[in-house]
Amino acid sequence: MKILVINSGSSSIKYKLYEVTGDNHDFKVLAQGGADRIGISGASVDCKREGEHREHIYLDLPDHKKAINAIFKLLTDPEKNTLRSLGDLSGVGHRVVHGGEDFSKSVLINGDVVKAIRDNSVLAPLHNPPNLMGIQAIHELEPTMKQVAVFDTAIHQTMPPKAYLYGLPKTQYTTHKIRRYGFHGTSHGYVAAQAAEALGKPLEELKLITCHLGNGSSITAFEGGKSVDTSMGMTPLAGILMGTRSGDLDPYIPLHIMQTQDMTVDQVSSLMNKQGGLLGLCGNRDMRDTMEGYRKGLEGCTQAIEKFVYEVQKYIGAYAAALNGVDGIVFTAGIGENERTVRKLILENFTYLGLKMDDAANEANETVITTAESKVAALVIHTDEEKVIASDTFDILNA
Ligand code: ADP
Repeated sequence: MKILVINSGSSSIKYKLYEVTGDNHDFKVLAQGGADRIGISGASVDCKREGEHREHIYLDLPDHKKAINAIFKLLTDPEKNTLRSLGDLSGVGHRVVHGGEDFSKSVLINGDVVKAIRDNSVLAPLHNPPNLMGIQAIHELEPTMKQVAVFDTAIHQTMPPKAYLYGLPKTQYTTHKIRRYGFHGTSHGYVAAQAAEALGKPLEELKLITCHLGNGSSITAFEGGKSVDTSMGMTPLAGILMGTRSGDLDPYIPLHIMQTQDMTVDQVSSLMNKQGGLLGLCGNRDMRDTMEGYRKGLEGCTQAIEKFVYEVQKYIGAYAAALNGVDGIVFTAGIGENERTVRKLILENFTYLGLKMDDAANEANETVITTAESKVAALVIHTDEEKVIASDTFDILNA
């Protein structure tokens, strides 16, 4: 069975083609690539097939339909035979950012689902519309193709009201849907399950705090296998400081800036989403560059790293309190999986919980980076959001 996973953005599309084989349902990547600069000059598509060099073609891609068509052409190239035809494809799984309160799990896409994704665009105006463009392009090109939507928000629908309500007049929630939704759900759910497996215990019996630390970062508390709180909010701007996003602020700050600095909503949004975070504090959005400055003792980089570490520590501490204990702290995504010094700095403050770091294991990027006596385990788990989307799509197509 072959499944295509699509992540459709405003001017780019990323894809991965999987083959599911054997009784154990192994997911093998046959090809991956993307379309870039859709609707802009200099557009291109590429394809990296297993064991081959990347194929990269420049062509005109005025819209998502043309881009998907170009990807389909690459995958069905008769000389390469990755797919003999599109009929070889059992279905397509899409990453959809915001499912609002309508979706607590992945679903087969039909007209009602498209409408609900469109209705939720008000909550994710930068993400849901381009996600929908990918879905609609495939529907127009291949009307019988089965498509599945996998939502970043779905797993967090288990949060209780005390975690998702904001302290605003209740009608802001009931009428305007203003509440915490949370994001990175496919990643948090996947690494929580992998961590339980690594610890040899059922996920349902564990209290876990998963730290997805990448360009965008969020932290989730799991109890009984369910997300009970998460650091991102109604939008992915909330929570800890990120590459370019400010994370949590005194909520009056944006209003104050608009009142006193003559800035528009768009300007303040840019300030908080694109000019804040590590970039705003030290001029580097990338953790590798920031760490280089930190190691050299540059003041801005040192402050940025100390702030990043401090915020992660505060969320872990808060969630350990919310969960009344924690069995495992899980690190994932670009920073979580690779940045050993940041992990070590974060974990230094949890000796009071009985956490004992295994420095050699941390340096070696092993799965468990705490000692056998440690009362709380810390783990490093590689996230694989595309595989979760492929796996959910497989399950729904076989249901
Ligand atoms: P995204 O949210 O875009 O998926 P990633 O999960 O790829 O982001 O994470 C990107 C972040 O991870 C960047 O800040 C990058 O500097 C950091 N990162 C990636 N590889 C390493 C590494 N080897 N060491 C330290 N940081 C890394």
